[in-house]
Amino acid sequence: MFELNETHDPQRRSWVDSANAPESDFPIQNLPFGVFCTRGTSAPRAGVAIGDQILDLRAVHEARLITGVAAQAAAAAVGPTLNELMRQPVPALAALRAQLSSLLHAEGAAGESIRGRASQFLVPQERSQMQLPAAIGDFTDFSSSFTHMAGMRQGAPPAAFFKFPIGYHGRSSSIRASGFPVVRPNGQWAAAATADLQFGREPRLDFELEFAAFVGRGNDLGEPVPIGRASDQLFGYCLLNDWSARGIQTPEMGGLGPFLGKSFVTTISPWVVTEEAMVPFHVARACRRSTEPGVPPHLDSPEDRRAGGLSVEVSAELQTADMKAAAVPPVRIVSTNLRHLYWTFAQMVAHQTSNGCNLQPGDLIASGTVSGPEPQGRACLAEINERGTKSLALAGRVQRTWLEDGDELTIRGRAVAAGYVSIGFGACRGRVEPAIAPCAPS
Ligand code: MN
Repeated sequence: MFELNETHDPQRRSWVDSANAPESDFPIQNLPFGVFCTRGTSAPRAGVAIGDQILDLRAVHEARLITGVAAQAAAAAVGPTLNELMRQPVPALAALRAQLSSLLHAEGAAGESIRGRASQFLVPQERSQMQLPAAIGDFTDFSSSFTHMAGMRQGAPPAAFFKFPIGYHGRSSSIRASGFPVVRPNGQWAAAATADLQFGREPRLDFELEFAAFVGRGNDLGEPVPIGRASDQLFGYCLLNDWSARGIQTPEMGGLGPFLGKSFVTTISPWVVTEEAMVPFHVARACRRSTEPGVPPHLDSPEDRRAGGLSVEVSAELQTADMKAAAVPPVRIVSTNLRHLYWTFAQMVAHQTSNGCNLQPGDLIASGTVSGPEPQGRACLAEINERGTKSLALAGRVQRTWLEDGDELTIRGRAVAAGYVSIGFGACRGRVEPAIAPCAPS
């Protein structure tokens, strides 16, 4: 279990000046891991975001600036993915974070030792291209928001929603890092409830603002993870956009659930904010109403009740191609907080492994659409437009019911707690591109 320590100290400043700006997503208290490339140079490699820079982990490791048990963790992070790092035990990860914090600290001998030769170790983020942080073996999407579940069904969630976090197996091969184009899919959909299905470009393209956790050590097949140890299985967190083709998805929901309506692409923010960085931002799990069933014992613990929730402000903003051309800034269309989620990530891990299913390092577990009770809390267009019956006013006279080609959707998140420095997640962005022409009949 990770604990509060000097790496969370709100007084700590970095010698990387941009990290000390109050609006920076990546102050020294954050230190998220990611995988990046630089133009014209070598293969993807791991780094740590600090202000507007990336600390090159391989360069730091090869210069023997990381020592002891932390060096074991750093050695696991020199490959093109973070899976081996995610597999490391808690003490090694904590030691690595402590030493990275010292190296970037404005005070002390460790920081002094590298700031004079910073160009050997720092790469500007604007000259880098972020990759997927891990080889994602399996991807699960849950449904952990009461508001989303009730809003999509226009009424009470199903009885099972109160008993366990409902999930489905997603598609990992089509997950991409922020910025990857979102090509409108083709598929079968009905123009009206009574119409026959036709094949063609999806007319009701949507986004889903979600949050996701990367699995750390994982568990062996046949060995469930008890709720008391579930949070130890989580390496860190990112933002996720579960792009959704509502026309294609609708007929699928009458059978085995989401399939082609979701698997065309999923976007994540490329920096993984570690469970240790998130320690100050854990909050009490959202309370149940007295009329609702209690939490099943195998999905409940005092620790999860006390600190299973997360205080993260999340938002989505939309900019159409016309707005961009006219230099009209993006409009915020969603604003909520993860603290409202009905099910916690520890409960999702305990539930998913309760039948003996094994989770592996680098697996991704998503929250489902994070809709909350605020006026702007509806976290997908299907809720905002009340299933296609209302349009959303953007800048000027621009209106949207569903996403149009050229629209750019950006998700952001900031973990916030009184007395601590806020940390962010970077952007999770995608722009909609036109569908490819459907194959002609042969
Ligand atoms: Mn989803």
